[in-house]
Amino acid sequence: MRSAHGKISNAEKAYIAGMQRGACPTLAAPMQTGDGLLVRLRPAGGALTIAQLRELASAAARHGNGILEITARGNLQIRGLSTDTVRPLAAEIDAAGIVVPDGVTIEISPLHGIDGDAIGDAAVMEAAVRSKLGVLLNSPHLAPKLSILVDGGGRFSLSALIADIRIVAQQPGQWLLSIAGDEETATPLAIGGPEAVAAAAGDLLELLTARGRQTRPRDIAATTLYAHFPQIDSIRSIPPAPSRSSYVGVTRLRTGIAVLGVRLKFGQARAADLISFLASAESAGAREIRLAPDRGFFLIGLPESEMPAMQQAAVDHGFSVTAKEPAEQIAACAGAGACASAFYDTRALASQLIDRVPDLFDGSLKLHLSGCAKGCAHRRADLVIAGSTEGYGFVLDGLAANSPAARIAGGRIDFAIEKLARLIEDKRGAGESSADCLKRLGPIGLAEALQQE
Ligand code: SF4
Repeated sequence: MRSAHGKISNAEKAYIAGMQRGACPTLAAPMQTGDGLLVRLRPAGGALTIAQLRELASAAARHGNGILEITARGNLQIRGLSTDTVRPLAAEIDAAGIVVPDGVTIEISPLHGIDGDAIGDAAVMEAAVRSKLGVLLNSPHLAPKLSILVDGGGRFSLSALIADIRIVAQQPGQWLLSIAGDEETATPLAIGGPEAVAAAAGDLLELLTARGRQTRPRDIAATTLYAHFPQIDSIRSIPPAPSRSSYVGVTRLRTGIAVLGVRLKFGQARAADLISFLASAESAGAREIRLAPDRGFFLIGLPESEMPAMQQAAVDHGFSVTAKEPAEQIAACAGAGACASAFYDTRALASQLIDRVPDLFDGSLKLHLSGCAKGCAHRRADLVIAGSTEGYGFVLDGLAANSPAARIAGGRIDFAIEKLARLIEDKRGAGESSADCLKRLGPIGLAEALQQE
């Protein structure tokens, strides 16, 4: 498999290696979905120049279905590819100078290197881990879905992200290695300087590779962990400083730099909208984007005087720059029009609901609109509405694939949700949130509400 120049490019090498590994839907190993092949990729450092993201969006439009996504973990996804188009996409990504590191994806703090409140530089720590553990990180014996993050702390820490392996700055020069959880729930294994913690991460990866692809850190017996990581009992981690709740909008960093956080509505953008918005951003002075967890990115380099105009441009292109918008509470998959497996237009329904029942979205309720039972857009939500041949299935506190607590036939969905929203409004106790009220009503209350005429 050779590029037009007769050489095997980095992206093509990754493609070959990944096809052998048969792993997650990385560029190296696309995954079959209801709307063709999907690739997920994380550029080095989670950073791209404006021109690179524009070229990536153009390539997604040429080779996929023209929809780009940013996931809840801040990774890019391109949908609607085929076996014939993944390879040219990989070549174009390579030609744009976008580097996608080999091996397991490592998510790092989005504002590494520019956030004056960061405790440690996550990019430097990631580089140390990759240089020391490169072979292990490429091992075909690691679980395909293994997740690793490096969190330098600061304004937008990764404390809420769950990961198999976490490496988190504790104080300058000191990092904590922990496993299987978010900042609060993960089990600490080792603490120390960058070298020592990278070595401990190597020990952990060796335990995992020895056990094979089915094993995640949570599966390793406690006795084994105690034998390999004698610090476990004595580690006193430093509780993380409270992180800013939302990254969207303008943030002024201690370094004097202002950044604009932009969220893709429902985690998706049409390539044409993104390209047009990025052209405006570049004219206004933006030079780089940093991918952010929770389906968005930061624009870096904009002068403060340009922020109001760029916020308006973002809104005009269908993006969100205001925290706690109802759209933040809705995860919607590609849906009808973009995915052949979808039974309804998820994004159109999401927009209708925001217009018609805004009070439902009081900040508490996570709603997942899934075109079918596959549930590509989200894992667990307070309420899932999954399309099927029989209409819409309503799942409470679960996954799109779970058995629904109630079903309604197609065609009446917005009316049905209006009834549900009215019921929640009527039954909600003083100070009770939408999510708590729905939980209290349970499957029976939900089914009754949907059946009422
Ligand atoms: S969940 Fe949505 S995007 Fe995924 S296959 Fe089903 S309809 Fe398509």
